[in-house]
Amino acid sequence: MGTPRWDARPENKAKIAALGREWRKKPENKVKQKVATKRWRAANRERVIETRNRWLAKRRETDKSYGRGRHSIVIKHLLMQRDKSICQICGEPVAFADASLDHIIPISRGGSDEATNIRLAHLFCNVSRGNKY
Ligand SMILES: [Zn+2]
Repeated sequence: MGTPRWDARPENKAKIAALGREWRKKPENKVKQKVATKRWRAANRERVIETRNRWLAKRRETDKSYGRGRHSIVIKHLLMQRDKSICQICGEPVAFADASLDHIIPISRGGSDEATNIRLAHLFCNVSRGNKY
């Protein structure tokens, strides 16, 4: 048993990851990386599907505990109370299961995650409003 290769030693793992990050940042390597990824994915279809399924399962778990966005179910309850279970877009009552949190100013437009920027809305109303942007 000789000394393990430099890149096989656990203490160098972070260094290798950093080197990889540096490498990927260089524009001339972007194309190379794309080709390599494509080739890898073609050769490892099962791994790709497995990874995607694992990601989807995790995502489902997150959705269950957080509703559909990144807000906790607790915030949704508080908002139901504050907005008296009325959809702030169409003015109709909202059932908890149909409720969603609508960002008055979307996060993508610089809106905050504060309660003052969030209102209660039907998931449907929220999504159809969102499509207008
Ligand atoms: Zn509504």
